[in-house]
Formats: sequence, structure tokens, C-alpha cells
Amino acid sequence: MLKFKKIKKDDTVVVITGKDKGKMGRVLRVLRDKGKVLVEGVNKAKKHVRRISEELPGGITEVEMPMDISNVMLYCPECKRGVRVGFRVESDGKKVRICRSCGAIV
Ligand SMILES: [Zn+2]
Repeated sequence: MLKFKKIKKDDTVVVITGKDKGKMGRVLRVLRDKGKVLVEGVNKAKKHVRRISEELPGGITEVEMPMDISNVMLYCPECKRGVRVGFRVESDGKKVRICRSCGAIV
């Protein structure tokens, strides 16, 4: 379960596999129970929308689909790439998330 805590809402992540490999995006939602994340602009799928009214005629729209959390890595601004994350307990007892490549707090 710990691995699900490594990615949070509003994190910037890099896709490491699939058709959107290499893309970066902001995490819109984390679906913890499913182990999936919804990333802005990534893993888009066409969706048919039912006609609701004159103003909302429906049709085909593109929406982000949740993807497996293991398909993304947290983006480290220091390393400028997706990295593995770890945790470190600071001297004040606060737990911080760090980049396992450069040690920066991310
Ligand atoms: Zn780093």
C-alpha cells in the first residue's frame, strides 16, 4: 500500500510505458482503491456523450482515462526526469518525500 502514497494529487508525473510514454502531466486524481491515477492530458480516450440539450448536443469528446499507478513516475525538477521516490524522516520528525536519484525533497 505504501507505493500508492508516493503519488499525490497535483504531482507532476512522467508516463513510463504505453502509448503516452514520455508524456508529462499533472495528477488530477488518485484512485487509491484501484491503484490508478488520472493524469491531465494523458491516456485520452474518445467518449460518446449523450445529447442533453440544445446547448449540450453531445457527440464525441476526449477524456482522460485512469491509468495504472505503476505506469507513471514522479517528475523530479532536479533530475529533469521521472524518478523513484523514497521517504526520509527529518530531524523534526516530519516525513518528507525524496528523489532517490539526487536526494532532493520532491
Ligand atoms: Zn532528482
